[in-house]
Amino acid sequence: MTAKIIDGKSFAEGLRGRIAGHVARLKADHGVTPGLAVVIVGHDPGSEIYVSQKAKQTVEVGMHSEKYALPEDTSEADVLALVQKLNDDPAIHGILVQLPLPKQIDPNAVIATISPDKDVDCFTPASVGKVQIGLPGPVSCTPLGCLMLLRDTHGSLEGLNAVIVGRSNLVGKPMAQLLLRENCTVTIAHSRTRNLPEVVRGADIVVAAVGRPEMIKGDWIKPGATVIDVGINRIAAPERGEGKTRLLGDVAFSEAAAVAGAITPVPGGVGPMTIVCLLANTVTTACLINGIAPPKDLTP
Ligand code: NAP
Repeated sequence: MTAKIIDGKSFAEGLRGRIAGHVARLKADHGVTPGLAVVIVGHDPGSEIYVSQKAKQTVEVGMHSEKYALPEDTSEADVLALVQKLNDDPAIHGILVQLPLPKQIDPNAVIATISPDKDVDCFTPASVGKVQIGLPGPVSCTPLGCLMLLRDTHGSLEGLNAVIVGRSNLVGKPMAQLLLRENCTVTIAHSRTRNLPEVVRGADIVVAAVGRPEMIKGDWIKPGATVIDVGINRIAAPERGEGKTRLLGDVAFSEAAAVAGAITPVPGGVGPMTIVCLLANTVTTACLINGIAPPKDLTP
């Protein structure tokens, strides 16, 4: 079997177009322009690129964008004061503080200060709890993107066996909650799981969120299963020239693609979905803050 390649890049483009339509309707029908504020402290090169992409895409879909780039030595008190100001600003519906933060700033203190109503990264305990009990609100961006790709591939996910490898707060745990809500039978595997290949072989859906290049092998995959590879591992690629790198997922792609029914590539699978789901969450929070029903295609 040769798997269908799940094209996250093209799905994300389509979703951005739909988000732009929702933003235009919110402006025309309700006078609401969703606003996203992104805060970055210091000069981590990866974070700077990521934050610029977020700001650019926010503007492209017609939203209001604010970017706060603070110096490396900014105090925790100053970051908390900025977050509080953004909490109180009616033009802002989503607040994202880019992690990691410099060592003098406690990320938990910052997250605790973000209003759950504007927590578009879904980091606060209140937002996490809402996802768990199925209340409306923002949903962790990467798992939301994975869910959208899975629904697009399968339609109904009801009754399918899903194995998620990885139990981080960022990916594995919220992914499990979302798939449970879809009526999957969910197993969360991790570094202490016994007989992991056997566990994965029972899965109709495999979500790999481990952070280990090509750890999940082709002969772990049940024939016809759908494989969602969240992993982004940058490894040296001397064959491309000195100092060059390339990205690998957590799944041995060629082996797995020979067995699976559908699979996401790395890059071009889950990665492009994450930022666009941040925009989706900002539309959702803008609606909820203004007492408007959020668009159904942007939420679980
Ligand atoms: P993380 O916080 O490091 O969690 C990794 C998880 O994998 C842990 O639960 C760990 O188990 C488990 N694990 C590690 N080694 C294992 C092994 N040998 N067997 C089974 N499980 C093992 O990572 P994360 O933040 O979830 O990210 C995972 C990957 O996704 C990374 O490559 C990251 O770069 C990528 N990512 C991509 C996106 C995107 O937009 N596409 C977004 C976020 C993350 P224990 O809990 O037992 O230690």
